[in-house]
Amino acid sequence: MANLSSKQDELERYDSISDVKAHCPDKNCIYVAPLRTLTTHASEKHPKLNVQFRTQKSEYFDQRCDACGFFFYSRSAIYNHKSTKKCEYYASERVKYETWLEEVGTQGSLTLQEQIRDTIKFNHGNKRKSALEYAGDLKRSKFGK
Ligand SMILES: [Zn+2]
Ligand SMILES: [Zn+2]
Repeated sequence: MANLSSKQDELERYDSISDVKAHCPDKNCIYVAPLRTLTTHASEKHPKLNVQFRTQKSEYFDQRCDACGFFFYSRSAIYNHKSTKKCEYYASERVKYETWLEEVGTQGSLTLQEQIRDTIKFNHGNKRKSALEYAGDLKRSKFGK
């Protein structure tokens, strides 16, 4: 029973975090998408930057796949990644990246690092502020009467 419910929790956690919107890790890219779509986008559009970004621990990607060394936003995401053979693909992308790194040296890696956003968090600040303002307006009008 306990096992079943913890499994359920994990699934729910996966569902909610995979829907969290974030910026593409590439500073020059305006793409914003839920994490589960973002990972596909980054690996297709920015393969080298993606390997560099995903093989470091970051705010959303904090759980590591032992087989390929990439970081994921949840354990369920790692499970899905392994079961769909993406792990082999990621490992091959990593080999390509490391081969490229040997050619360009440390400078190449530093340049790539500069292209990665400091934070990929998508700012909901404006939306939240207007909702608060709206609540404030309601309150004021209520007490004003
Ligand atoms: Zn992008
Ligand atoms: Zn893996």
